[in-house]
Amino acid sequence: MGFFQDMKSVFVKKELVFLESFKETEGVYSFLFEKEKDLTWKAGQHGLFTITHKKVKPSTKPFSISSAPTEDVIRITTKISDQPSDFKKALLELEKGMNMTMSGPVGSFQISDNSPSLLIAGGIGITPFRSMLKQLEADRSTEAKQIKLLYMDSENLFVYKDELDEMANNTSVTVTYLDSREHLFEEINKFTTIHTTNGTFLIAGPKSMVESVSGFLKNNGVSKKNIKRDVLDGY
Ligand SMILES: Cc1cc2nc3c(=O)[nH]c(=O)nc-3n(C[C@H](O)[C@H](O)[C@H](O)COP(=O)(O)OP(=O)(O)OC[C@H]3O[C@@H](n4cnc5c(N)ncnc54)[C@H](O)[C@@H]3O)c2cc1C
Repeated sequence: MGFFQDMKSVFVKKELVFLESFKETEGVYSFLFEKEKDLTWKAGQHGLFTITHKKVKPSTKPFSISSAPTEDVIRITTKISDQPSDFKKALLELEKGMNMTMSGPVGSFQISDNSPSLLIAGGIGITPFRSMLKQLEADRSTEAKQIKLLYMDSENLFVYKDELDEMANNTSVTVTYLDSREHLFEEINKFTTIHTTNGTFLIAGPKSMVESVSGFLKNNGVSKKNIKRDVLDGY
């Protein structure tokens, strides 16, 4: 999706009807909304979600759409601490049938068609990758592709673990869970050694993680054009 298409869709607010929310792991919740027929997105994109049932400041925050376009819902998954922000308190108040709005979808964080891809998630950065893997599973299009997901969470709280394991079983995607940067870099190294020039690298997570992984890749000879980054700002 190009820049101008992104800009156009940012100005169009779609009304979303809330369906349900549930706890994924400790401190992480998913929120599901009805998906209208004409609403679609590319796996990996995000939307700008606005609280409308009460006044909160800020009332709009970006979230990756963690469901795939082929699923029948809009899903966002987010960390909520014991002392949530006003925005997240308002999210937790949603009841079935209430509304939020979404602008977008926006962003160009998407898996490339042909090259071997290494997907690197830090913590809540797993959200765009859930969408991508669900889409690949639905399209049955992984057979010819080499896709590896490295999922690092220092607290060992792997969101969607059962689903990711199932997707790995149903496709040729491999998933490796890691709880330290040291092990993450070891795994990245194994991939870059083989695919330095032909691999595509997608990194999603907090800014510090995305920057250090991106720097590591560049130091290991990976070209900047083969690195895509999704910084989940706000953490
Ligand atoms: C492209 C993009 C995609 C993103 N995708 C996701 C995603 O998929 N999932 C996701 O979780 N995030 C995502 N984010 C980040 C998201 O937009 C938020 O910035 C993030 O979730 C933090 O929101 P918050 O309301 O908790 O933050 P803040 O308001 O910054 O609060 C941070 C912390 O401060 C404390 N705090 C703030 N206000 C109060 C208060 N009134 N009372 C007490 N304590 C308070 C709380 O401990 C809170 O957890 C994305 C960001 C970008 C740019």
